Amino acid sequence: MKKVLSIILIILIIFILTGCNEEKINSENFKITTSFYPMYIIALNLTKDAKNIELNNMTDSSIGCLHNYTLTTNDLKKIQESDILVINGLGLEENILNTVNKTNSNIKVIDSSDNIDEKDIISGNNVNPHIWTSINLYKNQVETISENLINLDENNREIYVENTEEYINKLNELENRENTVKEKIANVEVVVFSESLEYLIKEMNINYSIFSIGHEESGVSSEELGEIIDEINNKNIKTILIDKEDSKAIANSVSAETGATIYEMDSCLTGELDLDSYITKMNSNLDILENIV
Ligand SMILES: [Zn+2]
Repeated sequence: MKKVLSIILIILIIFILTGCNEEKINSENFKITTSFYPMYIIALNLTKDAKNIELNNMTDSSIGCLHNYTLTTNDLKKIQESDILVINGLGLEENILNTVNKTNSNIKVIDSSDNIDEKDIISGNNVNPHIWTSINLYKNQVETISENLINLDENNREIYVENTEEYINKLNELENRENTVKEKIANVEVVVFSESLEYLIKEMNINYSIFSIGHEESGVSSEELGEIIDEINNKNIKTILIDKEDSKAIANSVSAETGATIYEMDSCLTGELDLDSYITKMNSNLDILENIV
């Protein structure tokens, strides 16, 4: 009788242990962290209704671009706990990637720029990494992130596939509108003060001169300022495009000298954490561009 009881007890213990184990595995969420705002909005769309996942943005949604960004203790904590880090790539997160690998060598990095064709990348002295302001390249980023999520988290495969299709459909609609506006403003000439807007302007075939003075750079020499003013006067340019994040001081003085009008665009670097944030922002950009003629 004692022996039977022992066997029952052993079976019970095994049952409880296995049961506990299973529960532990189920409660282990798959943790996805994104480097900054535009990557978070993509991941938010792709992981909608996904099971057992936890999505975090490493940086606050008001931080903006990550050039020269230094990781905080809180960022490092998020990285330590993550299974996946989604980045824009093209050097934008270069400063932080070394630290990330040292902090969590098991973390899988999804580089959203992996499938961008080299011919589509704008590079002068440096590569311009702000590809997401091109709707077409943004779609490519969405697809690359999606493919990687499907590979790394099989359990949510169907949801990822469904969400990707839904989001790409919405982005196709946005792209259709972009094409309509593009035709309307075919011969417009503008001056752009932020490299983060360059992909959108280029995609829309707008003739532009770019002076990267508001984004990474902190100031402009009087010589450069003279060049900008000459360019606007010589070409009789009526439009200055700046990013809402950038300082308006230089644009204001150039506008005062030339009479060109300043329009504030949104390069989707900061904002609300809504599923349609990117689409809303890009539609506002199209509203502005539609009316600059
Ligand atoms: Zn930037």
